[in-house]
Amino acid sequence: MFNPLSILLVTVLSGVMAIAVLGSLWRAAIPGVGYWVSANAVAIVALLAFALQGHASQWLTFVASNVLMAASLLLVVEGCLRFLGRRARLWPAYLGLVAVLLGISYWTFAAPNFNARVALVSAFHASLYVVLGVAMLRGRPANRPRYSYYFLAGAALLLFAAHTARGLMYGFGWLTQTGLLQVSPSNIIFLALGILASPCLSIGVVMLAHDRLAQRLERLANIDELTGALSRRAFLAAGGALLDASLRSRSPLAMAIIDIDSFKAVNDRHGHAAGDQVLSHFATFVARNLRAGDVFGRLGGEEFGVLCPLTTTAEAAGLLERLRTRLAAAAPDELPRGLRYTFSVGVDQLRRDESLAQLMARADGALYAAKASGRDRVMTA
Ligand code: GH3
Ligand code: MG
Ligand code: MG
Repeated sequence: MFNPLSILLVTVLSGVMAIAVLGSLWRAAIPGVGYWVSANAVAIVALLAFALQGHASQWLTFVASNVLMAASLLLVVEGCLRFLGRRARLWPAYLGLVAVLLGISYWTFAAPNFNARVALVSAFHASLYVVLGVAMLRGRPANRPRYSYYFLAGAALLLFAAHTARGLMYGFGWLTQTGLLQVSPSNIIFLALGILASPCLSIGVVMLAHDRLAQRLERLANIDELTGALSRRAFLAAGGALLDASLRSRSPLAMAIIDIDSFKAVNDRHGHAAGDQVLSHFATFVARNLRAGDVFGRLGGEEFGVLCPLTTTAEAAGLLERLRTRLAAAAPDELPRGLRYTFSVGVDQLRRDESLAQLMARADGALYAAKASGRDRVMTA
């Protein structure tokens, strides 16, 4: 087991498993997965080439193996950068790959030197691990769980440390060795770290991909596709949290329920597609005019809800009234010519020891009154 050749072969098997797992994510079209699958395939070829040392040409077992291994890590890092939405290629790393090719060839054929080869390859790997670690720490979207990002960053920084140590030890000649498959304690330790690297990276990127899938499902459940507003479910969930905070801090919480006026007539006159455009326009218009802590959702059809923490009924009614007059002032450019619409609003604020449903019922009552008194107005309960 603790023999360099078996370590290499176990790593090959872990690469095959990683490809099988990543293959299950292929159809989800997550950026980076293609890079990660290729990285494992290239690593398998590289490891098999390493394993042939002593039995095949030095060109294959020294030069091609090292360059492919370096290319494999570069593909992992490129995949992670694509995953994080970065478009730019890592050109300095490609130049580094060329340097690895030239250096390994020189220290294999012109002036054979095992230590120099190890130092060069370690420097390349260490640099890429720093890039990966920093990218994961800085690129994590603020609203996603940290776990998979920190796991990958931790693994990358650990591997950076191992490669730096290895590069320094061999570079300064503190360790000497003649071949990769030589059985020595230091070589076994570094190879064992190498064997851990590949599954750690694969587990890390699979966790990233799963987080992206979870993010997509959460979005489907929480965001209304047409308007980009919160779904009713997510609006009520956010409302529950705001209600708790408001009762705890004894600060006001205002709710507005908004309904677009005579929307059925908009659909009948201009068509359902124009009706959809109105809904989308309205949601963008309102969302753009809310504060960061406000919550905006589509309750159903052409009815929307707004929750404003730290806001009284009068303040919320003032905000909605300003929006109403702004919309009434001019026909929106984004809508078909001549299409104008208005909306009615019912507003109230939370009372002590009541539920969200009770607050909502009162705001709804105010909305009903606004409709009954002629529409295109804001009324408080
Ligand atoms: P009121 O002023 O009393 O609110 O009248 P209204 O016509 O706006 O209200 P009503 O409830 O009679 O009609 C709502 C219409 O909204 C009926 C429904 O077809 C339409 N609607 C609901 N959801 C959508 C949607 O996603 N897209 C479009 N285009 N229309 C929708
Ligand atoms: Mg309506
Ligand atoms: Mg309605």
